[in-house]
Amino acid sequence: MPELPEVEVTRLSFADRIAGATILGLQMGKPLRWPLGCDPVQLVGQTVLRVRRRGKYLLLDTTGGLLLIHLGMSGSLGFATNLPAPGKHDHFDMRTTAGCLRLHDPRRFGAVVYAPAEDDTGARKLLGRLGVEPLGPDFDAVAFHAALQVRQTAIKQVLLAGEIVVGVGNIYASEALFMAGIRPTVRAAKISKPRAARLHAAIREVLAQAVAKGGSTLKDFSNAQGESGYFQLEARVYDRAGLPCTVCSAPIRSMRQGQRSTFFCVNCQKP
Ligand SMILES: [Zn+2]
Repeated sequence: MPELPEVEVTRLSFADRIAGATILGLQMGKPLRWPLGCDPVQLVGQTVLRVRRRGKYLLLDTTGGLLLIHLGMSGSLGFATNLPAPGKHDHFDMRTTAGCLRLHDPRRFGAVVYAPAEDDTGARKLLGRLGVEPLGPDFDAVAFHAALQVRQTAIKQVLLAGEIVVGVGNIYASEALFMAGIRPTVRAAKISKPRAARLHAAIREVLAQAVAKGGSTLKDFSNAQGESGYFQLEARVYDRAGLPCTVCSAPIRSMRQGQRSTFFCVNCQKP
């Protein structure tokens, strides 16, 4: 599943190239998670101004409104001048004067939604409850600690919920908690200010590292026809159950937490 770093790397892969391009036409495949929300003809002649990211949404600002794109479980975006005819898993093609933007999505949990403005009801419904951006200036260690203080659930669940900070999915939550030395089951409200500060720094670091690493595999990732999918993080705990901890050599443990697998080191991560 694409997580925040993959979405950011996708954005970087075509944002500069599509900015300033005029939309020539849209071709829709099978229905995606949500309908487009307008007649595709309405977009023809509009210019793409820029591509932003909010959580795991890509926002294409156009002269008439914005397109919100979500990659769902299995989506990937390609942008190229010479794409072959759409295949059976290509469900959205947007031809522009600079190339064609294509959503390839075998499982069709992804979506492309048009909204006349970001504060429009439709856009707000999708973006409204998102927490702050982990890599942005609003993600502040003191405010993060304060927000944790009022939550009685396990820290990992709080991170995954995305209400305090967005885009920390299962892999990155596990890795950040390891880096900060915090057991995933610790109640959020119990986390002290210094530990919250360590976790805050770890979340930024693990995501920034993944974006930087993703940049080097950009070519593979941005290929609309590519099967290689998402880049691999050099995980220290995630998916390493039974393997030795890279710090203390104790076997990494796994457990189920809210229907998701959690991985941690019993020595390095304190309750
Ligand atoms: Zn360890």
